[in-house]
Amino acid sequence: MEVLYHSTRSSEVSVKASEAILKGLSEDGGLFVPDHIPALDKSLRELAGMTYQQVAYEVMKLYLTDFTEDELKTCIARAYDAKFDTAEIAPLREAGGAYYLELFHGSTIAFKDMALSILPHLMIASAKKNHIKNEIVILTATSGDTGKAALAGFAGVEGTKIIVFYPKNGVSPIQEKQMVTQKGDNTLVVGIHGNFDDAQTGVKKIFSDKEFEKELDERGFQFSSANSINIGRLVPQICYYVYAYAQLLAKGEIQDKEQINVVVPTGNFGNILAAFYARNMGLPIHKLICASNENKVLYDFFRQGTYDRNREFVLTSSPSMDILISSNLERLIYRIAGEDAEKNRRLMAELNERGVYGISEEMRAGLSDFYGNYAKEAETFAEIKRLYDECGYVIDTHTAVASAVYRKYLAETKDSKKTVIASTASPFKFTRSVMNAIDGKYDAMGDFELVDELSKLSGVKVPNAIEEIRTAPVLHDKQCDVDKMKDTVREFLNL
Ligand SMILES: *Cc1c(COP(=O)(O)O)cnc(C)c1O
Repeated sequence: MEVLYHSTRSSEVSVKASEAILKGLSEDGGLFVPDHIPALDKSLRELAGMTYQQVAYEVMKLYLTDFTEDELKTCIARAYDAKFDTAEIAPLREAGGAYYLELFHGSTIAFKDMALSILPHLMIASAKKNHIKNEIVILTATSGDTGKAALAGFAGVEGTKIIVFYPKNGVSPIQEKQMVTQKGDNTLVVGIHGNFDDAQTGVKKIFSDKEFEKELDERGFQFSSANSINIGRLVPQICYYVYAYAQLLAKGEIQDKEQINVVVPTGNFGNILAAFYARNMGLPIHKLICASNENKVLYDFFRQGTYDRNREFVLTSSPSMDILISSNLERLIYRIAGEDAEKNRRLMAELNERGVYGISEEMRAGLSDFYGNYAKEAETFAEIKRLYDECGYVIDTHTAVASAVYRKYLAETKDSKKTVIASTASPFKFTRSVMNAIDGKYDAMGDFELVDELSKLSGVKVPNAIEEIRTAPVLHDKQCDVDKMKDTVREFLNL
C-alpha cells in the first residue's frame, strides 16, 4: 500500500516519499509525516534470521513506497558497508543488566551516521526519480556532530556538493579537526566569525533567497538540507530498533512477543520518535523512556503537559542533547492531536510566539507509552564510573544520561522487562569527560594521550575516526564573516 506524506501544519499537502526527502521541510513550515504507520509484514522470527541490511530493507520498503526494490537495496548496500567497523552494523552489548545498542560504529562514531550514511543515496535516487537534473547542494550549519557526519555521508557522492558552516571558535578541538580534515572535492568546510545561531540564521537566509534560488537553477544547482527533520533521516532510524529486537530473539534473550523497554538519550526527539514508529509498526515495546540532561524541557513536558522553552540554556557534557526546541516532537504532537493539522499549527505558533504551549488532558492520554526523566551532570558521571567499575564497560556521556535515567525508572517502577539503551556515541568522541568521570587524575593529560589511556582501560581499539585525525592534513582553512556566507557559496560553485 502506498504511503504518502502530509504536512503537520496543513491538510492540503500530500507528496510521495522521494519528494518529501528532496524538500526536507514542507513549505508551510510543517514536517512531513506518513499518512499511516505501516505494520511490519514479516514476522519477528523471520527478521531474526536477517542481516542488518536485510532488516533495513524490510522496514524501509514499507515507508519509501515510490522506490523500487532495486533502488532501495542499492542505497542500503552503499550505506551499510565497510565504513562500519563491524558487520553487525549496530551490535548489542549486555552490561549491568541492560542491553546497549551501539549505534556508533560508522565513520564518525556517533549515531548520526546510521541515517547520514544512507541519506545521500536516498537523495540522489529521489532526484533521478523526479527528473531533477540539477546538482544537489547540501547546506548545513553545525555545532559539531551533524556537520562531520553529513560531510562523511556526502563526500564523493556523485551529483552532490556539501557546504558546512561551523562557528570558528564554538566547537571542540576534536570536532574541528574531524571537519577540516575532510577529503572529497565536493566538500567545503567554513569557519564563520560568529556563533552557532549566526551560522544557522545565515544558512536559513540563503535557503529562503528566491532570487538566488533562480540563479542557481539556471546554473544547474539546487539546495537541499540534511537536517534531522528530513524523513530520509527518520526512516533509517526505525530499522535499528527492529534489528535490536530481532537480535534479542535470535540470541534467545527474549521469547516471541515478549515486551521490552527502550531508553533513548534525547535532544531533537528524532531518535526516540523512530522507536515510537517502530512500536506502532508492531514491535513489542512496552515503555519508550525519554532521557534528558539538565536541559529537561521534555521531562517537564511529560510530567506536566506543558512545553516551555523559556528557561536558561545549560551547557552540559552531553552537548548533542543541549536543546530547548526539540523539532521532531512536532510529529508526536500532531499524532496525539488526532492528526489535526490546524490544532498542531496553533500549538507551534504559540511555541514560536511565546515559547510555551500546553496540551489537553485528552492529548496527554496519548503519551502513555512514554516515560520521561533526566540526569544531572553528577549523576551522569557517576553512571559512567559505576558501569566501568562493575563491568569494565565504558560508555559516553550521552549514553550515560540514558543509563542513569534507566536506573531511576527501575527504582520508580520495579519493571523487570528487558531493556535496550540506545548508545549514541563512542566514548572516544568525548574522551575527556569520560576519563574524568572514571578518575580525576586523567585531567592533566593531552587529548590524544587520553585516547590511548581510554583504549588501554576499556580494551577497545582506538576507532579509525580518531586514528585518522591524529595525523591527517588540514584540507579546509576557509573562514568568513557572517555577512559573507552567500559569497562563499557563490565562490565554491563558481557562480
Ligand atoms: C544527536 C545526538 C543525540 C540526540 O538525538 P536526537 O535524535 O536529536 O534526539 C544524542 N546523542 C548523540 C551522541 C547525538 O549525536
